[in-house]
Amino acid sequence: MYKTHTCGELRRAHVGKTVTLAGWVHRRRDHGGVTFIDLRDRFGLVQIVTNSATAPMAHQAIEDVRVEWVIQVVGEVNPRPEGAANQNLSTGEIEVDVREVKVLNSAKTPPFYINKDEDVDENTRLHYRYLDLRRDKMRQNLELRHRVVKFIRDYLDERGFIEVETPILFKTTPEGARDYLVPSRVHPGQFYALPQSPQQLKQMLMVGGIERYFQIARCFRDEDQRGDRQPEFTQLDLEMSFVEREDVMSLIEEMFTKMVAEVVPHKRVLAKPWPRLTYLEAMSRFGKDNPDIRFGLELKDITDLVAASGFKVFESVVANGGFVRGLNAKGLGEYSRAQIDELAEVVKKYGAKGLAYLAISTNNDQRSSFSKFLTAETLQAVMERLEAEPGDLLLFVADQPATVFEALSRLRVLLGERLGLADADVLGFCWVVDFPFVNWNPEENRWDPSHHLFTAPMPEDLPLLDLNPGKARGQQYDLVLNNYEVGGGSIRIHDRQLQERVFKLIGLDPEVARQRFGHMLEAFEYGTPPHGGIAPGIDRICMILANEPNIREVIAFPKNQMARDVMADAPSQVEAVQLKELHIKLDQ
Ligand code: ASP
Repeated sequence: MYKTHTCGELRRAHVGKTVTLAGWVHRRRDHGGVTFIDLRDRFGLVQIVTNSATAPMAHQAIEDVRVEWVIQVVGEVNPRPEGAANQNLSTGEIEVDVREVKVLNSAKTPPFYINKDEDVDENTRLHYRYLDLRRDKMRQNLELRHRVVKFIRDYLDERGFIEVETPILFKTTPEGARDYLVPSRVHPGQFYALPQSPQQLKQMLMVGGIERYFQIARCFRDEDQRGDRQPEFTQLDLEMSFVEREDVMSLIEEMFTKMVAEVVPHKRVLAKPWPRLTYLEAMSRFGKDNPDIRFGLELKDITDLVAASGFKVFESVVANGGFVRGLNAKGLGEYSRAQIDELAEVVKKYGAKGLAYLAISTNNDQRSSFSKFLTAETLQAVMERLEAEPGDLLLFVADQPATVFEALSRLRVLLGERLGLADADVLGFCWVVDFPFVNWNPEENRWDPSHHLFTAPMPEDLPLLDLNPGKARGQQYDLVLNNYEVGGGSIRIHDRQLQERVFKLIGLDPEVARQRFGHMLEAFEYGTPPHGGIAPGIDRICMILANEPNIREVIAFPKNQMARDVMADAPSQVEAVQLKELHIKLDQ
């Protein structure tokens, strides 16, 4: 080994010992005949000192050494002089008096500071990701991620789960995105698809009698990039046989609750047991099915109050099947017209035509865009429904349901942030259940599965599949945390007839279904146990636990927002001969 100790482990108890250390030069300070260096490795920082009087050779050798050079030193651990201890550093009570220095490698001046936590352009960080990873924050994030995954592995191992790897070269496994395809050289014109998730494979493992499976699984989805999306990402993929949804949910609930206590003890789970919301309740209270439940600002429906109020704008929306909902931005009653207009711009961005408001000052003066059109009684009823008090700002959107939900849920999250209501150290885990089994897709003129093709309907809703599919509920459960869906799962279909019935319901041609999923239909005829599972997203969960704004911050080598790896420059062109071998001709 190049070192006897790590840079982070030396303490007072080591005083008097001779140690060999190796690492990077984090910072240097020259004081005439004495040079101080903070030497860094993954485990911490330690101050090393060279003195021209006592170790001239070592002092000479350190002369040219600059930040990020890699050096090895031999020296004695000394207590720091009286008053010079650094309480912020775990090794702050000692320093290493260096006798020998060996330069293991030099370094160019890095394009950004490694020893300061400052904002750096993200593409520069990604280009030099190997330098970015040396920074404190990235190291901490990767260590956190490691602890999360290790906790999961240990927890599930103790409960009889085994980790099984499933293929990356496979067949389309639809989760609602485009597939990444891999051409086959051996089979001209044929392609593998990278799994969008191991969904079918984990179900096959259940048919295979594995009963309790998990995998820290890479998933590939070719979809438009967003803050919390990557072309490839990691899930805790999990499946269990002989279970009902309650069993899967309680296992996951206990796992994350214990993980928080062990891995991020400074954070607090908002409520135990985790709240459960039906899909309809989540939509009506928060306007979205992955709500942030750390704060109120809940949506209130005033459609019934204003449907025949005499105010044309509200009336015509209601007459056309829309509704009017609002929220009470507590304490913003003194907002100026310009500030309210700015909020109106926000809802317009999400499709609303405008934002109706009623601002109540602290001395109870009212300003409103609509109150003059309402009777005093109606206005009073509206204010009561929103629990209005002096100093409040009531904001309303009148539109078709989808627009009202989208606009107000965005506004709610923005106001929650602005009012400092979302405590980063609180984890608002909750479950959302009773999703519709299928959603109508007006563009394609067909029903789409609301989760995926293999989710089972609620047994009591089976007759609805023929009578009124839009009213049937699925045995699906979504794991929601602080405004993100961090996982979804379901009890699956394990019966061939029912699976075929669902394929038919969503308009999948029987021949196409047989080509794509024939192996599953066949397997279902060989004694498939009832089964279900879930797949929490590791990247998103780590992002939230690390208080990061996007998942790239918790992935060692992420793609940028254009789905490029800017360090290695991928995707890239390939040799003509490679294409030929793959039987591919480019049309440009
Ligand atoms: N395969 C699903 C997904 O990736 C999760 C599951 O149903 O277990 O979202």
